[in-house]
Amino acid sequence: MSSSVFLTDKFRDKDSKYLQSLISCKSCGKCCNGKMFDYILFGNSRIKLPCKFHKNNRCSIYSSRPINCRLFPFIVYNGIVSAICIECPAGEEIAKKYIT
Ligand code: SF4
Ligand code: SF4
Repeated sequence: MSSSVFLTDKFRDKDSKYLQSLISCKSCGKCCNGKMFDYILFGNSRIKLPCKFHKNNRCSIYSSRPINCRLFPFIVYNGIVSAICIECPAGEEIAKKYIT
């Protein structure tokens, strides 16, 4: 996991629609290309990064990408949002805006 993870329970009770509305992705690709993580969770399996679905700097399974990808930079563990990755530019923005 990235070393730039900010632990917080501020978003724990928020639904995924709300969380997604806060994310302003910069399409830098860092969460898919292996620069930040070695793998992502896809259900009970792991997808090794760089992700095989990351093509031409886009997600080729965008509409069916895993929930962890949908909610990133929020970090979901056992179904609970417990952290934000602030190495992600969108995560850094959220942390600055919503966490004081
Ligand atoms: S690291 Fe953050 S800003 Fe970059 S593509 Fe992933 S979600 Fe978007
Ligand atoms: S499934 Fe899509 S969003 Fe998730 S890591 Fe792979 S390319 Fe990125």
